[in-house]
Amino acid sequence: MKVFKFGGASVKDAQSLKNIANILANYQHDKLIVVVSAMGKMTNAFEWLINSYCYSPDKIKESLNVIVDFHNKILWELFPDKGQQVYVAVNELLFQLEEVLDSNYANDYDKAYDSIAGFGEMISTTIISHYLSSVGVKNDWLDARKVIQTNSDYRQAKIDWETTEELISKGNYNSITVSQGFIGSDSDGNMTTLGREGSDFSAAIFGYCTNAENVTIWKDVPGVLNADPKHFPDAVKIDKMSYREAIELSYYGATVIHPKTLKPLENKLIPLCVKSFLNPDNEGTIIQKSESYDSLVPSYIFIENQILVSISPKDFSFIAEDNLSFIFAKFAEAKIKINLTQNSALSFSVCFKNEEKKVEKLFQALENSFEVKYNDKVTILTIRHFTDEIIEKMTAEKTVFIEQKSRNSARFVLR
Ligand code: ASP
Ligand code: MG
Repeated sequence: MKVFKFGGASVKDAQSLKNIANILANYQHDKLIVVVSAMGKMTNAFEWLINSYCYSPDKIKESLNVIVDFHNKILWELFPDKGQQVYVAVNELLFQLEEVLDSNYANDYDKAYDSIAGFGEMISTTIISHYLSSVGVKNDWLDARKVIQTNSDYRQAKIDWETTEELISKGNYNSITVSQGFIGSDSDGNMTTLGREGSDFSAAIFGYCTNAENVTIWKDVPGVLNADPKHFPDAVKIDKMSYREAIELSYYGATVIHPKTLKPLENKLIPLCVKSFLNPDNEGTIIQKSESYDSLVPSYIFIENQILVSISPKDFSFIAEDNLSFIFAKFAEAKIKINLTQNSALSFSVCFKNEEKKVEKLFQALENSFEVKYNDKVTILTIRHFTDEIIEKMTAEKTVFIEQKSRNSARFVLR
């Protein structure tokens, strides 16, 4: 078995679907599971729809239209004959979506989110599966919700590995199987999501549960680069990497691979390939078990739009286990993912993504016992395999709020 994952950028318009079909045509005799995300930036459009549904119902129609129009345009280009079955299938999904919008989950944002966001993947895979069939690439469509079982932690659902493995390994994979990234279902059959950008993780789940020979993530970059080419035009591709190095990079915020993806693959020693869907014949990056070949090429990881919050007990007590555990609990309740921390005797500093609603919730929970100050619009820069010259160059003319160094990584909060 092989597993492929195609993300939003690889399915952003009719032309890119044709490209994927060309790639997949070469694998018709393989056992292959193809995991696909929502098209283009559709998950953002779905998030707008969810926000409308929960907070401004007068915008539901407008936000839904963006989604419908986007998919219709692709459908018309791929299937000029509007009598084709794919129109019925997509309309059925849109009908189910409207049913959700007519129901009353709106007061539970996270639950509403999970019952709506995954339609992006349901629609994209439906279109792709029909398109592959129409060009002669035989395939089966698999509803990921029937096999990927999770708890009901909406928006961050945790995998029930035992059940999922049993269900996935029971499947018949005779031809190419097309399924959705990002989604699963809980034990009551409600749709759940695995967190934004979670389709990589879905591919790893399928890989793990089928003992795949490898998993390939197809991207619009040639492989894993040592920096985001948007910041660094001279970014270079890293040909081979150990799981360990890749886990470190994604932990520090490199977005090329979703952080949860590597662990299940490492557990079964399944190699992860990262390749370009624009140049499918080029070698990408291969990530596998090795102690020996991690290059010491410096890598740069930027996490932008962060807020740095410093929290000090109002009673001048020290920052210690009791108040730290209280503070961490409040972060967990606000569903904030912490990216960097530092503490001194009297204050605890935390850096995380600046999302207004979450920040508000956190500040309210802390205001009674703590004095809270913040700097917004800061960036976390991590340099793996740094040198002093590199640090000097990267921090020149910046205000550095925090600096942390370990043997292999230097981290800065700066503006
Ligand atoms: N479509 C989802 C998202 O954009 C999942 C993914 O693309 O991995 O977050
Ligand atoms: Mg995506």
